[in-house]
Amino acid sequence: MTTKKRKFPLHLQILAGILLGLGWGLLAVNIGMADFTKDFIKPFGTIFVNLLKMVAIPMIVTSLIIGVTSLKDINKLSRMGGKTLGIFILTTVFAITIGVVIANVAKPGSGIPEETKTKLMSAYADKAAANSESAESFSQQGPLQPLVDLFPENLLNAATDNANMLQIVLVAILVGVALILIPAQKSEPVVRVLDGLNDAVLKIVDIIMYLAPIGVFALISSVITEVAGDNPSEAIGLLTALGKYVIVVLVGLCLHVILVYMPMVKFLARRSPLWFLKKMRPVQLLAFSTSSSNATLALNMENAEKNMGIDEEVTGFVLPLGATVNMDGTSMYQAIAAIFIAQALNIDLSLTDQIMIVVTATLASIGSAGVPGAGMVMLVIVLNSINVPAAGIALIMGPDRILDMCRTVVNVTGDTTVASVVARSEGLLHDRE
Ligand code: ASP
Repeated sequence: MTTKKRKFPLHLQILAGILLGLGWGLLAVNIGMADFTKDFIKPFGTIFVNLLKMVAIPMIVTSLIIGVTSLKDINKLSRMGGKTLGIFILTTVFAITIGVVIANVAKPGSGIPEETKTKLMSAYADKAAANSESAESFSQQGPLQPLVDLFPENLLNAATDNANMLQIVLVAILVGVALILIPAQKSEPVVRVLDGLNDAVLKIVDIIMYLAPIGVFALISSVITEVAGDNPSEAIGLLTALGKYVIVVLVGLCLHVILVYMPMVKFLARRSPLWFLKKMRPVQLLAFSTSSSNATLALNMENAEKNMGIDEEVTGFVLPLGATVNMDGTSMYQAIAAIFIAQALNIDLSLTDQIMIVVTATLASIGSAGVPGAGMVMLVIVLNSINVPAAGIALIMGPDRILDMCRTVVNVTGDTTVASVVARSEGLLHDRE
């Protein structure tokens, strides 16, 4: 496939969008152009994200079916599946453990003045209540509901909602398996058509990425104006009061990348960690700008195949699955946030509570969709399990979008790390410069 080389590498284009968006956002807040930004700039960000989400399902379907059929045997598929899920769960548990340890050591929730707490609670009370309601409907379902939800009763319905991404993954695997089982002369033409479609989808991703600087500019400037709200100085005051909490989450996320992902890349995927991070730059910057694993999925798949040498058989399978169930950044954030809220509300957590956090944050991160703010909705489930009032979420809502951007970077980095490890173990990691 021929791709024209860009004059400016993609990561620099996205970075320029982020910086210009930041600049304009701050200016707009100060010169009273926040409404203009919302009405005339934000829509371009929405268009960009919509386009990215639009290609996610076609990309999953074509690469996953091609990936599964090229595995040629079903044992290999189940071995790869087992490995992938096992590593996903292990890395998530590591992330939560790091979060629990640093939140207990740094105690970001102790010592927040009563007055600040009251202000935060009243500023975000309504949003917190709405949040709990959405989580409530989730937790009222039976324990096996997530399993039931994996199986669509109607194929077209499944394909029309990005929230059903896992159902699509399942159907695509099933189609791939069926194509392996039927005679080759019947399956080959189907696979050839899908291969052509897959190249077309990759090309569409390239075309969409030409809009990246504008889309990212629009996304970042609207985030800034929304975080600042009507009273920027009060917003800054409240954010500073939560400074320690924000720093603990950011340090935790960095530690997870350094202590877990980098050794996995070095020793299990046998690749240079610096090379890995360099290749991941455009994907990480897009994750940061969109706050959405789903919106980043198509670029991640394209980048992993073309620039990182991870075979399509692996990316088609591991990355879509990862974008929906493997969210280490989110799980760590949920653990730290739950402990922070308990500390701020002077609720002591026993060892059993802390273990409960590890279990429920693992499940809650699996249940979180790859869209902005999903992790915060599912945080309610973690809080319920340790008897901390869900209204306490109001305390951490202010800086959530910014933390969401950072945890999404870790979420997508984790998916590609696991894809590299699985690819290496299957002999499917190819050399790239
Ligand atoms: N925004 C995150 C993602 O898409 C999920 C979350 O933590 O809210 O990966």
